[in-house]
Amino acid sequence: MTNIDIKKVRAQFPILNSTIHGKPLAYFDNAATTHKPDRVVNKVKEVYETLNSNIHRGVHYLSNQATLAYEEARTKVQSFINAAHSHEVIFTSGATGAINLLANSFGETYISEGDEIIISHMEHHSNIVPWQMMCKRRKAILKVIPINGNGELVIDEFKKLLSPKTKLVAVTYVSNALGTVNPIDEIIKNTHANNSLIMVDASQAVQHLKVDVQAMDTDFMVFSGHKIYGPTGTGVLYGKEKLLNEMEPWQGGGEMIKTVSFEETTYNELPFKFEAGTPNIAGAIGLGEAIDFVSELGVENIYEYEDELLRYATEQFIKIPGMRIIGTASKKASVISFLVNDIHPFDMGTMLDKMGLAVRTGHHCAQPIMDFFGIPGTLRASFAVYNTKEEIDRLVEGITKIAKMFG
Ligand code: PMP
Repeated sequence: MTNIDIKKVRAQFPILNSTIHGKPLAYFDNAATTHKPDRVVNKVKEVYETLNSNIHRGVHYLSNQATLAYEEARTKVQSFINAAHSHEVIFTSGATGAINLLANSFGETYISEGDEIIISHMEHHSNIVPWQMMCKRRKAILKVIPINGNGELVIDEFKKLLSPKTKLVAVTYVSNALGTVNPIDEIIKNTHANNSLIMVDASQAVQHLKVDVQAMDTDFMVFSGHKIYGPTGTGVLYGKEKLLNEMEPWQGGGEMIKTVSFEETTYNELPFKFEAGTPNIAGAIGLGEAIDFVSELGVENIYEYEDELLRYATEQFIKIPGMRIIGTASKKASVISFLVNDIHPFDMGTMLDKMGLAVRTGHHCAQPIMDFFGIPGTLRASFAVYNTKEEIDRLVEGITKIAKMFG
């Protein structure tokens, strides 16, 4: 039994009272984006209504207030992930923005011809393509940790891939397509034992699991704000101070400079060196509010409740004739990818939508996983703290009905 009052939680998300095609909405697309509680929406509104102004550069009252609120949001992220310093938290447009920043800055600073980067077979495209692009530019080599039939990383193979040339391992903590929770501590330990650096993609982790960057001893970490009940267009790159200080900035422009002349530009200190241009001020402050929402509920409590939902849903799903769950790792976050008989995911997804049941269909921006399983895509139900067993019952009923219709 959870100690979260789910009724109270749901009351904070007015969108959950919507009807879709005349049916009450049951939203199971949380791995793509979560809904936002009132307090996040109101916070963003409040920023525009009461302190809208550009930050850091102003002497006037509103600019100071906006700067304080923006920097307070950074401190909230710092304590949420337990970073040693707030300037180790770089605000970005999302996980994709953060990985592109890192791939560019890291590549420019540390990568030469023949160096190696290791990713895994279960990465989101956002943690594949930026590294491919960087490897192409720097003439480096991209290596890939294989997965097994349960959708787990093959750790013994990972160990074999590590070499004196490995400069960085960039892996996801939790798979968005399968829900697999990777043994991140073991991966980090092996990476460091090889004198290589590590980046953890925590886009599907921070909303479910306690993430402590110092305890994990990760060198870099990224996540998106909109998957943790925050505004879209927000995200974070965490990096250890020493590394961020060494790294070349990526984008140039306002905020990241100390002095500019046509002969020479000197860069600002952390974190501003990596935040060129006017950032998403209201978004970052909204993300701070979302982090308060999660912290007040307690991420451990959220995990416990979502795990209860995952277990319940899995038990019900496997009773459905023709059900095939893709991703059966021993440790999973609240994601179920599935197929039923040979019904195309798109057909099933469209029909579920008519019943007010929102699931995601397709390759979930993880095409190599689908290739591994030899399938075009899956249906994916992913649960958040506001989902209920009653909603899962409706989903199971809907899937069963559609499966019967297809005979
Ligand atoms: N990594 C993972 C594991 C993800 O699930 C996602 C989003 N689905 C991303 C990266 C990219 O996040 P965003 O689109 O918010 O930049």
